[in-house]
Amino acid sequence: MNVTAAGSSGRTIPRADFGRVAVFFGEKNGKYPDANQVIVRGSDTQAAFDTPVVANHIGPEFDASDLVILGHVHEDHMAALHRLPKAPVHVHEADLAAAQSWEGLRAAYGSDESYVAEMLSRFQRDFFYAPRPDAIGYKDGAVWELGGSLVRAFHMPGHTAGHCALLVEPEGVAFIGDIDLTGFGPYYGDASSSLSDFRRTLARVADIPANVWVTSHHRGVYTDREKFLRDLAAYTRTLDIREQRLLGLLRESPKTLAQLVECRLLYPPGHQGLWVVDAETRSISSHLDELLADGRVRLDDGGVYRLS
Ligand SMILES: [Zn+2]
Repeated sequence: MNVTAAGSSGRTIPRADFGRVAVFFGEKNGKYPDANQVIVRGSDTQAAFDTPVVANHIGPEFDASDLVILGHVHEDHMAALHRLPKAPVHVHEADLAAAQSWEGLRAAYGSDESYVAEMLSRFQRDFFYAPRPDAIGYKDGAVWELGGSLVRAFHMPGHTAGHCALLVEPEGVAFIGDIDLTGFGPYYGDASSSLSDFRRTLARVADIPANVWVTSHHRGVYTDREKFLRDLAAYTRTLDIREQRLLGLLRESPKTLAQLVECRLLYPPGHQGLWVVDAETRSISSHLDELLADGRVRLDDGGVYRLS
């Protein structure tokens, strides 16, 4: 890995290069609201994977991109689409509606009417949000020939319905997006998310034939498979930790969904934010559904969950 720095707007952007693949790190190693930018310089076509906030500061190396391949659709991965109005934007078909319109994105989030206007204005202010009605859908296994470089999509849903990993050959660089291996753990709090899909994705992601793994946030780049596997295992374990916390809360006393949401599962108790209650409600419900299905928890008529 060759780490150097470059930037067009007086800012130094750390980068790492692997053959024709360049990774530009967002602020704080791509911590949200920023993320890491991957660019593949094929002989015929230059492709950008996602377009996070940092892409607004890269300059000609980003702005020369001919094609955008989105690994998934969220505001922090679309923040420089406005710079590439003529570049085709490809996105998995399950995230296509979310890329094409605000209504589509809002439905994917499952955002409540009470905060949707505030959410849109924040996205416009902080992420230069601009939908792409012209976005084009792709399927699992889609391949892009860029001239000497090849990109292949692996559908890895859970975070969003259309979340994909993108593998660049011959370098063997896998962009795994928001399977981000952070200490926070997997995020599956949107209407288009799925805990069960995320579990299957976590069991499969190490099968992608890669030598380098790039996450959108925080972790950045892995070149050591053992370390990648160790962090993937720890990330996967946060699902068990959340499940244990939920069981612990019900062991203290039976609770309704609203009471469990009040206790928080993803975020610290008391944590507030526009969509925190919605995300907590959906995440906790996903775990409760699993616990109901395997008989560890039961639900009373009054909407009270208790240990079996
Ligand atoms: Zn995301």
